[in-house]
Amino acid sequence: MKTKYDAIIIGSGIIGCCTAFELAKRGYKTLNIDKLPSAGYGSTAATCAIIRFHYSTPDGVAMAREGYFYWLNWGHYLELVDPNGMAKYINTGCMLIKTERNKFGEKFMSSMDELGVVYQELTAEQMSEKLTIVDSRQYGPPVRQDDPSFGKPTADALPGGVYIPETGYINDAKLSVENVQVACEAKGGEFVFNTEVVDILKKDNRTSGVQLKDGTIVEAPIVINVAGPHSYQINEMAGVLDGMNIKTRPLRVEVSHVPSPEGFDYENLGMMITDGDIGNYSRPEVGNHVLIGSEEPDCDDLDWIDDPDNYNKDLTEQWSMQIMRQAQRLKELPVPLSKPQGLVDLYDCSDDWIPIYDKSDLPGYYMAVGTSGNQYKNAPAVGVMMAELITACENGHDHDKEPVQYRMEFTKRPCDIGFYSRLRKINKDSSFSVVG
Ligand SMILES: Cc1cc2nc3c(=O)[nH]c(=O)nc-3n(C[C@H](O)[C@H](O)[C@H](O)COP(=O)(O)OP(=O)(O)OC[C@H]3O[C@@H](n4cnc5c(N)ncnc54)[C@H](O)[C@@H]3O)c2cc1C
Repeated sequence: MKTKYDAIIIGSGIIGCCTAFELAKRGYKTLNIDKLPSAGYGSTAATCAIIRFHYSTPDGVAMAREGYFYWLNWGHYLELVDPNGMAKYINTGCMLIKTERNKFGEKFMSSMDELGVVYQELTAEQMSEKLTIVDSRQYGPPVRQDDPSFGKPTADALPGGVYIPETGYINDAKLSVENVQVACEAKGGEFVFNTEVVDILKKDNRTSGVQLKDGTIVEAPIVINVAGPHSYQINEMAGVLDGMNIKTRPLRVEVSHVPSPEGFDYENLGMMITDGDIGNYSRPEVGNHVLIGSEEPDCDDLDWIDDPDNYNKDLTEQWSMQIMRQAQRLKELPVPLSKPQGLVDLYDCSDDWIPIYDKSDLPGYYMAVGTSGNQYKNAPAVGVMMAELITACENGHDHDKEPVQYRMEFTKRPCDIGFYSRLRKINKDSSFSVVG
């Protein structure tokens, strides 16, 4: 590690690595600093890595659509083949359940219409035809497991669903980050691990670098906060919180893993299901498993965390409730309560569950934070966005006054980076959940 760089990126998760890669491609001498032992070891390691398009806003769909094409063209994007293996996109399709809370899928469909994402509306009957183990009765709105009405249908049939054929997941999220690290290093980017940033340095009214835990100072005129669930702490160090209308904080979440219903090849025949009716999302998992997360139904309390280095890492009744909820939708789903499998991790949640990709009031200090459990899929597109933003601002553009716009490579759509501003008002079109 040298003592001077053009840009320091705090964090080597998927978004930190993609941001560094794009800057390195543009000729910046970059350094990623991470306090963990390797790339993708933070919250990215826990990601369900679902690649989907249904977001509540057209801008959300546009970024997901753009990101998708990078995953499809992974080797071309990286400009190399990693000798240690390449992460792969696996297509599953998606079944989105229409509910009153999601306004029967209307916002998703109109946003996907704008971007030309193909979908098909399904009746409850057609849903069971598409995935034969689906119970298409309505159970919602979701209640907690100890509610006497839990598990009892509230109608004989769901209001319907939406099938989106282009949806899937990345088979190995950690490997995907390592792929980007290798690609970034090939462009001259550097990485240090087991190294913690403890202060953001300032000189002449702008950022001048960072201080590490062992006292070392690394200088750079550009510092980017991509610290995932620690983003709030880093912004605090930089003293930029007062200049932000939207803030971030860590949210503890659990993901449940269960075997597929016996005799059913869910790995190959299953699909992603986004199911507000039971309050879950799920997808097939390698090894013929079903992976299940929560869509934050109104009846559940959210587990906000003060200290991202100190929280309960054990699976709790949230884990079993997610499985019980899923068992309403997938017939014969085993409920292996004696052998819990799954994980606990943190989202870096913003006030409206939409990320902040922005500059700050401190010149030279930028942030890609508040990814709210739904930005893994967008990471390559976010890398490009951050590089466009930083290059424009460093060339004197006043992004707060006149948001930077650029043309996205694959969708050929103009992207207004102001959508992700720290100064925005809470976006009321958001789902205020992991769906974004
Ligand atoms: C359980 C779960 C499921 C998810 N599922 C999906 C999904 O299906 N699809 C989707 O699109 N998104 C999903 N997400 C969200 C997605 O994974 C994240 O948005 C994304 O991984 C965030 O990447 P990142 O690089 O910003 O952060 P991280 O991967 O968290 O990286 C941040 C890094 O910063 C480092 N750091 C922090 N503080 C310091 C410091 N002071 N000094 C040095 N280093 C520091 C950390 O060690 C960490 O490695 C999910 C997230 C979780 C937790």
